[in-house]
Amino acid sequence: MDSLSKRPRPDGCEEPQQYGKKCFPDRTTQPVSLISTFTCAKKETSNLSDTTEILEQMSSWTDTPNSVRKVLEHLKSKQAAGDIILEDSIRGKFLSFHRDITDECSIEDKQHSWGVIEKQEEVIMYGPYYPNHNNREHSEDVVIRQTQELLESEDVSEDSKVFIFTLNSPCLVRNTNPCMLNLVQKAHEWWSVYGVKTHVGFNRSWGFKGSKESLFRDVSWSQVECINQSADYKSYCEAAERIPELHPLCETMFSVTKHLLKPGPESFPLITEQGPDWKSYFRDMHCVAACKPEEEKKLLMGEVSLLVETARVLLSEESNSLEGHLEKARAFVLKYAFSSHVCDALQADLRRAFEESWMKMVRGKYAEFVRENLTEDFNQCTVWLCIKDIQKVAEKFLKIGKLPL
Ligand SMILES: [Zn+2]
Repeated sequence: MDSLSKRPRPDGCEEPQQYGKKCFPDRTTQPVSLISTFTCAKKETSNLSDTTEILEQMSSWTDTPNSVRKVLEHLKSKQAAGDIILEDSIRGKFLSFHRDITDECSIEDKQHSWGVIEKQEEVIMYGPYYPNHNNREHSEDVVIRQTQELLESEDVSEDSKVFIFTLNSPCLVRNTNPCMLNLVQKAHEWWSVYGVKTHVGFNRSWGFKGSKESLFRDVSWSQVECINQSADYKSYCEAAERIPELHPLCETMFSVTKHLLKPGPESFPLITEQGPDWKSYFRDMHCVAACKPEEEKKLLMGEVSLLVETARVLLSEESNSLEGHLEKARAFVLKYAFSSHVCDALQADLRRAFEESWMKMVRGKYAEFVRENLTEDFNQCTVWLCIKDIQKVAEKFLKIGKLPL
């Protein structure tokens, strides 16, 4: 949906106008130049030094491996990191625009952006825009383009304000300029040319690659176990050497993971966003049917499939400790009624095989849970550090922060 709507500002001094909505190309307003020559000249001088300062400050964020290292070091140091929340007055405006936009459009629960230009006498809203994966366009690309077009064609003054909402914080890495850097650059340009301040609000900390972050892919169940049982990096490396096929993680990764893991049994859900399908953990169960005559094999395979499918009910359970998840499955399989053609000995084999596969799945899910939490902390810290850097140079033309909805 690509829409633009204009309405009088609620606190505007003009007569309230009829609320109207129009499509983008249908604009009749003449392009305007608002900033006086004097202001332009004054700004141009300070502009050059500003631009250099901004480029210098942001340059470390264009070097992804370096900034990833910086974030990990911060997490390792256990220094505070949190969310930078927009100040109350800006948050209030965003929330009221958000209410208006969601009232008028059905917004899908996926990445999207919208924008608002608030002028003295009216408010122009545009969006929501979604990413276009076919041409690798992010929703921020579209909202930036529309803002640019509007600023060029609308009658904006230095009292006007730009508000840009993006569900996920602007990305920090992609095949072309990342959105976070584009926004800083554009906000500076809009301030220099039109004298307007930009406000950017986001709801989720996306970090560099969001949920596709693969930094923690080596944090497996065995790694977590080994880290949990080791007091420090030295003892971890010694323990890891004794476990076949376990390559020790680097010290930073060890410390960051160790810091996240809480002592004592942790509760976690069996339904996770990432990772393989839960049924894939039960493939080994079909071994019970191996070496059996063809007819019996078929029946047993059917029996295994039915048992696994019936166990699906256990997945809808709430978070539980590792032992709690195992206990539930034990009770389930003990009560499970096999078909009469499965003899007692085979029933015992199937129960044992089920418990083994279930244990592998629970451990796999626990590792996924740990990886998801590591990724979330990493993404939050990334956005926090990046915004702190932005604030050092962009305070006068850009306010950016999290917007709890
Ligand atoms: Zn982006």
